[in-house]
Amino acid sequence: MNDCIFCKIINNEIPSEKVYSDDEIVAFKDIQPQAPTHILVIPKKHIEGADMLTPGEDTELAGRLILTAARIAEQFHLEKGYRIQTNVGEHGCQTVRHIHFHLLGGKQLN
Ligand code: AMP
Ligand code: ZN
Repeated sequence: MNDCIFCKIINNEIPSEKVYSDDEIVAFKDIQPQAPTHILVIPKKHIEGADMLTPGEDTELAGRLILTAARIAEQFHLEKGYRIQTNVGEHGCQTVRHIHFHLLGGKQLN
């Protein structure tokens, strides 16, 4: 997807502050943090949202995204708790149509 800002981050075509990368997943700091720790965990595969995950084909990847977010939370010492959130579509206020899991923490969340 040429126009996808997160694909460009994956390909290092635009800068980002990456905190994790493996063969399938990248995580980087959100450019407009809503909490002291605000990291986005995304697959390298362009999937537009949770509504576009393919059962079977994407099942393991979906699990790995959440497990990766939880592992990053440990690295960022969010022992007091955190939130993993994914927004879907217009009513979900999804602004970037490349699936991403927000990892939010470092303060008492509302
Ligand atoms: P959502 O509204 O759930 O689609 O979340 C998109 C998130 O991407 C927002 O929190 C934005 O601040 C974040 N974002 C957009 N562009 C960038 C970028 N270039 N680098 C890091 N985060 C970004
Ligand atoms: Zn993309």
